[in-house]
Amino acid sequence: EPFEPVFANEPSLWLHHAATPLTAHHKYDRGHAVVFSGGMSRTGAARLAALSALRGGAGLVTVFSPASALLVNAQHLTGIMLKRCEDGDLDVLLEDKRLNAFVLGPGFGIGDRAKAMALTVLKAGRRLVLDADGLTSFRDHASRLFEAARQCSDSEPQLVLTPHDGEFARLFPDLAGDLRLSKVDRARHASRRSNAIVVLKGADTVIAAPDGRAAINATGTPWLATAGTGDVLAGLVAAQLAQKRPSFEAACLAVWMHGKAAEHFGPGLISEDLPHCLPAVHREIV
Ligand code: AMP
Ligand code: MG
Repeated sequence: EPFEPVFANEPSLWLHHAATPLTAHHKYDRGHAVVFSGGMSRTGAARLAALSALRGGAGLVTVFSPASALLVNAQHLTGIMLKRCEDGDLDVLLEDKRLNAFVLGPGFGIGDRAKAMALTVLKAGRRLVLDADGLTSFRDHASRLFEAARQCSDSEPQLVLTPHDGEFARLFPDLAGDLRLSKVDRARHASRRSNAIVVLKGADTVIAAPDGRAAINATGTPWLATAGTGDVLAGLVAAQLAQKRPSFEAACLAVWMHGKAAEHFGPGLISEDLPHCLPAVHREIV
């Protein structure tokens, strides 16, 4: 089955999918994103993603935090809400159906807990951005993740994977090692297999959908090669999902905005600068 043509990632291609007109009169119309925090010693990544989700346009953002990290998160969050989330709490928290886009992985820790929570979010019919430790946690159980994504996706993929090359190789070792495949085709095969949108990151990020669509991104600067920028991207994808854009378009737009934010800042960028550059990026696309 031949693949679709490859797009140059361009916001005008995706923006007409905006489900949230700027005249929306209520924050709930712009969605409610959730970011899972790691434990006490590694909470910064989740806060980066949360701030980015808020600056990216989500109407509300909540950080789900283990009890051990509530205090440190509370001290560093202002416009972002905080909820305790231990293992038994997630099912109850998911009863709030307005929580519509989730980020799991940045600073979360690798292991069974990450897997269980990711699968619970998917089974509850919510859209999920899986990044960093969330991806690595499935390295020997990728098929369980892909099957869950298949079962819960009706027309729209519910799962967005945002691997860098190393994380990609853990989930798709055969594709990563296949030197005949271009980066675009690695991402497309991975997307088809996983039933997820795949954002294969790097200087030339590729976004692929299970139906064969793919886009190559051209925004960004080498200064993005610094700690935490991937966490910011995960939050930005969640912001676009929360605003009910279709998953492929949401991922494409987020990747484009992320690179543009880096361009606006220029040299000397560190990850926490990126959310502050998003207002300038929004001005470019309204
Ligand atoms: P991570 O590897 O998870 O920290 O994510 C790094 C982020 O920075 C991804 O969005 C990459 O696409 C981006 N990035 C890394 N290096 C470069 C580069 N040299 N040029 C443009 N973007 C980059
Ligand atoms: Mg990362």
